[in-house]
Amino acid sequence: MTSFETRVARPQPHSGVLAIDAYVPGKSKALGFTGTIHKLSSNETPLGPSPLAKAAFHTASETLSVYPEGTALLLREAIGRTHGLDPAHIVCGAGSDELLMLLASIYCEPGDEGIYTTHGFLVYRIAILSAGGVPVVVPETNFTVDVDAILAAVTAKTKIVYLANPANPTGTYLSGDEIERLAKGLPPHVLLVIDGAYAEYAGAPDFDSSFALPQARENVVVTRTFSKIHGLAALRLGWCFAPAAVCDALNRVRGPFNVNDPAIRAGVAAIGDQDHIERSQAHNRHWVGELSREIAALGFPVTPSQANFILVHFASPAEAKAADVFFTARGLILRAVGSYGLPQCLRLSIGTPLANGLILEAFAAFAADRTSSRA
Ligand SMILES: *Cc1c(COP(=O)(O)O)cnc(C)c1O
Repeated sequence: MTSFETRVARPQPHSGVLAIDAYVPGKSKALGFTGTIHKLSSNETPLGPSPLAKAAFHTASETLSVYPEGTALLLREAIGRTHGLDPAHIVCGAGSDELLMLLASIYCEPGDEGIYTTHGFLVYRIAILSAGGVPVVVPETNFTVDVDAILAAVTAKTKIVYLANPANPTGTYLSGDEIERLAKGLPPHVLLVIDGAYAEYAGAPDFDSSFALPQARENVVVTRTFSKIHGLAALRLGWCFAPAAVCDALNRVRGPFNVNDPAIRAGVAAIGDQDHIERSQAHNRHWVGELSREIAALGFPVTPSQANFILVHFASPAEAKAADVFFTARGLILRAVGSYGLPQCLRLSIGTPLANGLILEAFAAFAADRTSSRA
């Protein structure tokens, strides 16, 4: 046999692809449990989308045989009105995940380095590896992105830096000043991607929800999503605000009809429904405070959160696992975050008042078990 014949006779993915662990989404079933299930594992909104968005989605069913307008112009204009932005600097995607993936494929050549942080969103790693890039994982400090650690990790090969602000799954954030310090500290050839999937929930006075950085700098992109506060996760809709050259590159590589028409129409309605957004923010603010306080009082430390979920710490990975099993048996599904380097934690998305009440009861029962087994 020649060496040619001993090779596996099928197409071979490049090595970066084989280094990817497939993304494991939060579970949505509780095996064996027959009551109502509360899925608090994917940071979806408990309030659902705006009724106006649902109506727009229904209207779109009349024209399903027609291709969508390829640049999502109506949506870019609506986003522009809401945020005071030039629609020419907005690109929409099939979820912000699509844009996160495309950015690595545009800016990383094989062997180039892409930076994200220890507890960073796993899509960043998938994006870097699938572009043939080398993931460089930078440590966080106190479950928070560390600007100095990122700057220290930059090399001549670094092409892209990803961070979420607020971050998932920790819920921590960087102030506007810190983000600006990071942007200014990066060499001009490095693209900084600020993933604002939870920006609408952030209420800290020093959080910067503006788009000033990509307006002032050539190397900063801000992404947003309709999956979280707007409640349209099923439609797969996201967008970014970026410098002209980045938009130009994205528009070359994205699919010509990457965003579908029902999503465009629902998105226009959702971003225009300020009342619904404010209701969602108020619900979230109330329950993040309440759940964080009550769960911490039961003896489980909670990382302060600016998002629509909280990170709960247990005494050990084994206890976190036991809690996961305990909650699941009650129909309450939380997110195990071992794949984010947090095996001692569970992430809890804010739910309906009913689900939040059940979660507090479940934590109290778990804490009581814990105490009695120690006594
Ligand atoms: C949920 C989430 C997104 C949103 O992804 P879509 O593809 O827009 O649904 C992006 N980044 C982070 C960190 C998230 O948690």
